[in-house]
Amino acid sequence: MLRLDGVTVGFGGRAALDAVDLDVAEHEIVCVLGPSGSGKSTLLRVVAGLQRADAGQVYLAGKDQSGVPVHRRGVGLMFQDHQLFPQRDVGGNVAFGLRMRGVARAEAERKVAGLLDLVGLPGAQRRAVAALSGGEQQRVALARALAPEPRLLMLDEPLGQLDRTLRERLVVELRGLFGRLGTTVLAVTHDQGEAFALADRVVVMRDGRIAQAGSPLEVWQRPASEFVARFLGFDN
Ligand code: ATP
Ligand code: MG
Repeated sequence: MLRLDGVTVGFGGRAALDAVDLDVAEHEIVCVLGPSGSGKSTLLRVVAGLQRADAGQVYLAGKDQSGVPVHRRGVGLMFQDHQLFPQRDVGGNVAFGLRMRGVARAEAERKVAGLLDLVGLPGAQRRAVAALSGGEQQRVALARALAPEPRLLMLDEPLGQLDRTLRERLVVELRGLFGRLGTTVLAVTHDQGEAFALADRVVVMRDGRIAQAGSPLEVWQRPASEFVARFLGFDN
């Protein structure tokens, strides 16, 4: 479904991504872990088409995406700094991608209500986004990213600002939802527990390279290097 082949991105002579190869299968949930600055967000931005690769190719469903603009890639994206539309209310934000695709109003409203229930904000349609807390805004952004049911969903720290109870509930519900919809997911997280609960496969990054990729159990039981072992050890 997604293939990166030697993808390199440099900023001022430093490689944010250094010849990254990655294959993500259809319906697979991949979680990207790694220290701050290791290239996780850059990886998502390159796949989305928000960042140009200096070398290498991104393929979606076998097609080279060079020159294909963001809105033609069929991917959903939730940023680290979620960027909601401040002039629209909660419902307007979540419905955005649906109305754009010509989904009828009643159908869009039904879907928005379901998604707001899912993220723990039932009935919040008419609330102003500026008046929401950071965690509430993050949940609205998550609902907005889920709404169009993209073939590939990319999430950058989707649950970062939420408390543990809500995170644990959402991880379970998201995993179920992705399974039902058959969504392929590439998600960045700082939380190993979250990665291990959500992912079919985890990718650990270091300095723009993939230090290890494997099933959560594999990476946990057999870290490929001292770096991976130490990185995984921090949160334990
Ligand atoms: P974090 O966990 O803090 O979000 P990250 O793993 O997502 O970190 P990236 O945002 O991908 O890291 O950044 C990788 C490297 O590229 C960093 O050294 C960062 O400073 C650099 N970088 C990212 N975007 C830009 C940019 N637009 N201009 C210059 N340097 C950048
Ligand atoms: Mg980042």
